[in-house]
Amino acid sequence: MSWVERNRDHIEKIRCYVLGFRNARPPVFDWLQGGREPLFPWTPESDRGTAFLLCYCALCQNIGPEKLVRLLAYLWQEYGDDFFRLNKLSFEELQARIGKHPGLQEWVLLPKAPGVLRSVCDFFFKHGRLLPWVRSQADGEASVAVLCDEIFMMGKTSPFKSKARYFLWLLTQLPGSDPAAFWNERTLLPITPGHIRFLREFGPLKNRRQSPWLTPEEKLAYCNRFFRMLLPDHPWSVYTALDSYLKPNGFSKQPQFPMLPTHGKPLDAGSERKWLCRDLLGGCLQCPLAPDCPGREDL
Ligand code: SF4
Repeated sequence: MSWVERNRDHIEKIRCYVLGFRNARPPVFDWLQGGREPLFPWTPESDRGTAFLLCYCALCQNIGPEKLVRLLAYLWQEYGDDFFRLNKLSFEELQARIGKHPGLQEWVLLPKAPGVLRSVCDFFFKHGRLLPWVRSQADGEASVAVLCDEIFMMGKTSPFKSKARYFLWLLTQLPGSDPAAFWNERTLLPITPGHIRFLREFGPLKNRRQSPWLTPEEKLAYCNRFFRMLLPDHPWSVYTALDSYLKPNGFSKQPQFPMLPTHGKPLDAGSERKWLCRDLLGGCLQCPLAPDCPGREDL
């Protein structure tokens, strides 16, 4: 019997867990209109909002989301509407402005950031509004290929192409975007450490000593087969639930529960953590996986 055949009840529990995240919005939406701390005047689903999301994804590499958004907010303040036509303005000035922004010295993409932003703006000039453009492509994979091909540092040589896949996934989260219009059986989600953690705890990787893939491409395909098995009609909906699984969400000011270590040595009393899955579900009490979860709070 296959893993799926042996675990039908367990898979139903995972589906319930995933459903609990249906109202979670991507964190980057928090800084757009309708979010918790809007720093920009557009909704994520507006033409400029989706353009902003592409800038964000193109630069999203070895930098925390908030730090990156603060940089983009600073550039928006500096350039106003010219923010979307940086490819027509002075490269040196853009370089100097980005260089002046504090706290970026360690960022590996810093020297390339001006070129990335100008390349994204070139993309806007060439293709126009992004959601109609994505819909006009053969499918999501075709969009990923063009994004990686035409935007500097977007992942042309990466087997995972995570930035472009993440952008495509963000589009599935926009109100009224009709993901089925651009997501078909070929289209792949990016994979994250949370996804792998989940597969190792609740999926077919549990108790496996060796990974069933040899190449990055096989790893991407393997994880996506799992996502698609869970929700065949809308596999993009599993992203947040599995990504959030035991994902540290800062440290609790007041430790509220005795932490059960997930792997390796136990955490000491001062390092108890909150998990994003717990925050988004409103506590482990709401979680159908709690009886089997090594990170659950004391119920
Ligand atoms: S930590 Fe809590 S919310 Fe997260 S998966 Fe475990 S039981 Fe569920």
